[in-house]
Amino acid sequence: MIMTNIDRPSWTRTVDFTPGLYLKVRRRTTRLEIADVAARIGTIPHVPEQDRVEWLERIEADLVPVSPNTIDQLARVFRLDLQVLAALAAIARGERDAALTPRICRICACSWRLPCVRGHEACAWVDGQDLCTACDHPLSGAAA
Ligand SMILES: [Zn+2]
Ligand SMILES: [Zn+2]
Repeated sequence: MIMTNIDRPSWTRTVDFTPGLYLKVRRRTTRLEIADVAARIGTIPHVPEQDRVEWLERIEADLVPVSPNTIDQLARVFRLDLQVLAALAAIARGERDAALTPRICRICACSWRLPCVRGHEACAWVDGQDLCTACDHPLSGAAA
């Protein structure tokens, strides 16, 4: 299913991203709390918000797999690279070699299809690292 034309990565992977961790880091990069996300997604059938929080926590902890429908909803709340997520899910299921983990920034989980954009400039990779230039040189005054 997944097309690969990838050689072994020449960069150093310092974080083993899982689908849940990827979602968690993307959420945090967007500066959303789990409760914020729970409040913004709809569920079928209607589930109380507190239950949605726990359910999202389980997804981020990789205790439950994230369904295509949920991915669809999460992608409306914060930016996701769906191909990265699919690759991580395939690795988690043992269907893809972990050596083919996509390159993901270890701080913000951006990827080449989903770079950080500040002003009109997209981030780039720091040579040989799983780190993007936006995280390597954070703008001063951007208190987290
Ligand atoms: Zn980054
Ligand atoms: Zn970036």
